[in-house]
Amino acid sequence: MTKGTVSGVIANMVTLRVDGPVRQGEICYIETGGDRLMSEVIKVLGTDVYVQVFESTRGLKVGAPAEFTGHMLEVQLGPGMLSKNYDGLQNDLDKMEGVFLRRGQYTEPLDAERPWGFTPLVKVGDEVQSSDWLGEVIENSQKLKIMAPFQMEGKAKVKSIVKAGEYKIHDVVAVLQKEDGTEVQVDMVQHWPVKFAMTNYKEKPRPFKLLETGVRTIDTFNPIVEGGTGFIPGPFGTGKTVLQHAISKQAEADIVIIAACGERANEVVEIFTEFPELDDPHTGRKLMERTIIIANTSNMPVAAREASVYTAMTMAEYYRSMGLRVLLMADSTSRWAQALREMSNRMEELPGPDAFPMDLGALISNFYGRAGYVYLNNGEVGSITFIGTVSPAGGNLKEPVTENTKKVARCFYGLEQDRADKKRYPAVNPIESYSKYLEYPEFSEYISKKINDKWIPKVLALKTRMQRGKEIAEQINILGDDGVPVDYHVVFWKSEIIDFVVLQQDAFDEVDAVTSLERQEAILDLVTEICEKDFHFDTFLDCVDYFRKLINLCKQMNYSEYKSEMYNMFVSQIRDMLAA
Ligand code: ADP
Ligand code: MG
Repeated sequence: MTKGTVSGVIANMVTLRVDGPVRQGEICYIETGGDRLMSEVIKVLGTDVYVQVFESTRGLKVGAPAEFTGHMLEVQLGPGMLSKNYDGLQNDLDKMEGVFLRRGQYTEPLDAERPWGFTPLVKVGDEVQSSDWLGEVIENSQKLKIMAPFQMEGKAKVKSIVKAGEYKIHDVVAVLQKEDGTEVQVDMVQHWPVKFAMTNYKEKPRPFKLLETGVRTIDTFNPIVEGGTGFIPGPFGTGKTVLQHAISKQAEADIVIIAACGERANEVVEIFTEFPELDDPHTGRKLMERTIIIANTSNMPVAAREASVYTAMTMAEYYRSMGLRVLLMADSTSRWAQALREMSNRMEELPGPDAFPMDLGALISNFYGRAGYVYLNNGEVGSITFIGTVSPAGGNLKEPVTENTKKVARCFYGLEQDRADKKRYPAVNPIESYSKYLEYPEFSEYISKKINDKWIPKVLALKTRMQRGKEIAEQINILGDDGVPVDYHVVFWKSEIIDFVVLQQDAFDEVDAVTSLERQEAILDLVTEICEKDFHFDTFLDCVDYFRKLINLCKQMNYSEYKSEMYNMFVSQIRDMLAA
């Protein structure tokens, strides 16, 4: 293995003189005062190598020895990851005192001693290729697959496979024989370099299946799909976390992975305390049973922060290869981009806009590109739906991270300070937000079959009405209530109906928090009917009065259990008002 000697130290950037070949991205360990500091190669210039140390370099001196490992930053993938809290380098934070590791301390991400009930899915003589399913293990009621090694090239035959029974992760459960006669011993653990996308699937079509979240402003107005991408920009306190929690809890996913990326330490601690409390409406148990949290805070070294989103994505790809639906959330991708910026600045690279690296756009787009809905080689499907938050400084949506994310993410849920101040939650801006999936023919075909072919046209009509309502609100603002015709007020109040009844939703009310698709359809139909009705009022005050009453009834309807006696009562009162 190549060895090196420290020749310079600038914070976490260290230069080494090396005695052999070194690869970009390779991992090395630097020895200092009994600690071994994990580092990643970021630039190679002949025998001079630049590395980024994942830890504090306090006390590190020129002349300290280093050893290269020959492999890239990788994760270990296997049973035992669900409900764990890891840091960006996959250290198990539950094994730590407090949340953070001491310098030079690394932990085993998987439990080597725990037995797992293994059921074989292949028999001797079967032909397999990389990522094919060899067996099954159940973890917290999720059916996980034990797969042929991801790195294996070509086809192989199953030479032996163990009987159903209890095995540990490092026990050999199968032996595969490749075409050239060599044998591959398979246990339950896979390794994968985090910065490379797994492409172990047959096809990645455009995603088209609605991913229900129970949040109306998403499902009805700007739907996300299984395997789709979205992002949530928003200033502090506008509801990013509440929205992410709602989506994590309610979305139809098998596995939830949260990358808490470089937010303040107290916010990360908040995730560790809040998440385990969340109930899982799908299983009636704790959401944490099918969740993994990857956490890094901005007081951790920059390279570890940068790694965390990749670690999370790689885990998501692992579960997708098993035919599972994975929901991956990153909060916030801005902190990740800031880590990239710090690194590139220290390397004295030519900076792009706002001092971000020149290739920021490519990095963001490659990352989002790893999400998706895939057909696996065995004909099954799996998906990674990715939603990232962005915390643009000062709410400025023209900054490079937001702009580059906008180019690649297909859904945009812009949280707005003004709406949050008015307590119009979720504070997703109804005009600027969008879902590109509404324009996909695959998606409308799917919706036509799943719901009906009027759904999307109705949604688009409501969006137009919201836009029109906003324009009229501005006119009323300038000209005064009496300065515009009463009909204008009607148009404005119709947009308020859409806002209050469809878009606003109380995340803390047991009934209102989650709206089934069937119920969203009923709401969409009712609101459309109201919007299409011709109203005539003598004065704008009559109009305001009428719509306030109507909104009030609709809100009470939203708070009542679907089709309960209360619900039916409110619906009939609304009908009476419309008929009068
Ligand atoms: P951020 O993560 O953007 O800083 P939070 O998600 O913590 O903001 O939200 C701040 C506060 O806004 C919450 O504590 C809550 O009181 C309120 N809020 C946000 N979304 C909703 C919602 N859908 N329903 C009710 N209240 C909400
Ligand atoms: Mg938050």
